[in-house]
Amino acid sequence: MRAHAIKPLENPTKANLLNLDRAALRGYFAALGEKPFRAGQVLQWMHQYDAADFDAMTNISKSLRERLKEIAEIRAPEIALDQTAADGTRKWLLRLDSGNSIETVFIPAQGRGTLCVSSQAGCTLDCSFCATGKQGFNRNLTVAEIIGQVWVANRALKREPGGARVITNVVLMGMGEPLLNFDNVVSAMNIMLDDLAYGLSKRRVTLSTAGMVPMIDRLHEVSPVSLAVSLHAPNDALRDTLVPLNKKYPIAELLAACRRYVADEPRRRITFEYVMLDGVNDSPEHAHELVRLLKEVPSKVNLIPFNPFPNTQYKRSSARAIERFGAILMEADLVTITRRTRGDDIDAACGQLAGKVQDRGSRSRRYAPLRGAITP
Ligand code: SAH
Repeated sequence: MRAHAIKPLENPTKANLLNLDRAALRGYFAALGEKPFRAGQVLQWMHQYDAADFDAMTNISKSLRERLKEIAEIRAPEIALDQTAADGTRKWLLRLDSGNSIETVFIPAQGRGTLCVSSQAGCTLDCSFCATGKQGFNRNLTVAEIIGQVWVANRALKREPGGARVITNVVLMGMGEPLLNFDNVVSAMNIMLDDLAYGLSKRRVTLSTAGMVPMIDRLHEVSPVSLAVSLHAPNDALRDTLVPLNKKYPIAELLAACRRYVADEPRRRITFEYVMLDGVNDSPEHAHELVRLLKEVPSKVNLIPFNPFPNTQYKRSSARAIERFGAILMEADLVTITRRTRGDDIDAACGQLAGKVQDRGSRSRRYAPLRGAITP
């Protein structure tokens, strides 16, 4: 394996403008004594015309461009690895500072291109069926590192032969718990939604949480994005074993927060993710229990066939079990979709994202052989 020289993402002497959403950019230009409308211009250059430097910004005066070159930069994470799966799924391994790296996945489908974005290097939650948690946690990503994933992917897709693939949806379903990196995730989502940046509709930006109840309410106050919740079990006893966070915020509290999230918009629904684990949570009884649980919440259910990773104790439910489970939900009028497994030949499927985390905790030592196996 070739050792890469590690370049720090943040240059301490220069402000990385990818860290700033429109409001923050306006503040930045105001502090420079410049007109606030420069914020919109620079945002558009960075995110719509994927400018990586200030020379291209021809509607900005030469003197301001020269000044920006002195004091600011546009710096996204560096691409360490770029792979395309047999089904067209494309995955980037992006290098951050201090040896951490994260993964971002583009999943093309009929009429749609979904980018799955990471929010943390590693994760603190340690869900028992997820590869990311096994590496432990290093740190929150900056805004530049979160929106930088969209910036890098968008740029790369535009440069594909034909250039026809575009990002129409973003899901915060990569590595990490987005609601534990609240402020940076919200700023990055502001940029995804901004008409002068990516201009995605609020229905096409989805944040997925393992159930950080107080932050669900805070999110509702500050952002209009869609919410997905990783439920995975229809009762607390089982969910406690899969998602340890459940011991802090049990199902009843979680569903109450979900109801509050959609209460003011009649057609809005929460997407509940449910990973299908053979012999663990996939029986018809579990399905009936789930139906009873979700009766009071406007819901969609997303069944995710478990994606294995080295050293896991779990197995994917059989196709028959998944079908039977889904049929029970649909008979009860729950909108149910079974997620197709995509990109698993390049370890790009749900729960397989690992990147490389310089862990400060103990979990990485316990799983040291696993880490070796999944880093490139
Ligand atoms: N922390 C957030 C977002 C990251 S996980 C959350 O928990 O929602 C994105 C989705 O992938 C979650 O629903 C997660 O439970 C699921 N997932 C994790 N590991 C998986 C695996 N091995 N197979 C299938 N899905 C998995």
